Amino acid sequence: IKILAIESSCDETAAAVVEDGRKVLSNIISSQIDLHTIYGGVVPEIASRKHIENINFVIKDALKEANVTFDDIDAIAVTYGPGLVGALLVGVGEAKTLAYGLNKPLIGVHHIKGHVFANLIEHEELKPPFVCLIVSGGHTEIAIVKDYNDFEIVATTRDDAAGEAFDKVARSVGLGYPGGPKIDKAAKLGNPHAIEFPKAKVNDSKYDFSFSGVKSAVLNYQNKANMTGEKINVNDLVASFQRAVVEVLVEHTIEVAKDYNIKNVAMAGGVASNTALRSLMEEKCNEEGLKLHFPSPIFCTDNAAMIGVAAYFEYINNNFKDLTLNAVPNLEL
Ligand code: ATP
Ligand code: MG
Ligand code: FE
Repeated sequence: IKILAIESSCDETAAAVVEDGRKVLSNIISSQIDLHTIYGGVVPEIASRKHIENINFVIKDALKEANVTFDDIDAIAVTYGPGLVGALLVGVGEAKTLAYGLNKPLIGVHHIKGHVFANLIEHEELKPPFVCLIVSGGHTEIAIVKDYNDFEIVATTRDDAAGEAFDKVARSVGLGYPGGPKIDKAAKLGNPHAIEFPKAKVNDSKYDFSFSGVKSAVLNYQNKANMTGEKINVNDLVASFQRAVVEVLVEHTIEVAKDYNIKNVAMAGGVASNTALRSLMEEKCNEEGLKLHFPSPIFCTDNAAMIGVAAYFEYINNNFKDLTLNAVPNLEL
């Protein structure tokens, strides 16, 4: 089964051809990062316009790289939420047009489910049940993947997403956008124990996250230093911030795996490519006898291959959409 998958939920226009849910025949990503950098974040209207310009070229490249034509494609899949409504609509409109014009089945995919299933691409042995830490620009969750179509969310964030906190802190210390990779790099040159930032605990929940406290602590630290004229070591500052975030992410994930007695752990979303998170999670999983999986960085941030993987499990369940499919910006998992 070959699926052509389309992703346009944020600022990446992407298309991929995926065979039987695990084999990526092509994975084309046109990133708009340079376009949005000068604004310090994604501008929705610009994103939508750029998706319209790019999408046909990206799809054409995906078919070419996979060495297939539309005739070889069994279904058209698309991210229909969550995301920016104008951005999502470009992909959804394109997918509906192709499905109608080529008379192929249409599959709607949840973006976050795609992030989770990116883990299947490079880990043939990974099968449910597994625990997945989802850490992206807009989401921070721990999911128990009981089966391919059965997710239970056991933790969420009360305020900022992890990636959002990275991006905001990076902006305030002048590292620019997107902040995650920049902090990751700068933190390697800093001392993660230089500053003790608060590790947020949510009172009424064992697993939930909260990152606005540590984010504010970083901003306060900066303001205070500005007032007293004290010189800030940015590398130490972001290394300490990163440690505070990463430690909580790892602690809660391990706790869930132990409490639910699940041996396989996975990570998904852009922040899952953070090197400090990867190494601490690996260390703690080893200590606890858990097996850790995470995708290569290219499959952590937004891409269409992950959408093609998730779509396969909808395909085998005969879960198709008709041409009334619409973008759902706040789609629930
Ligand atoms: P969502 O998937 O929740 O809709 P999104 O699609 O914008 O949000 P992703 O593409 O999964 O998010 O990830 C982007 C986020 O990942 C950004 O916040 C970015 O700063 C962060 N990120 C990317 N690389 C790293 C890294 N090495 N360390 C930390 N954060 C990172
Ligand atoms: Mg992006
Ligand atoms: Fe994403």
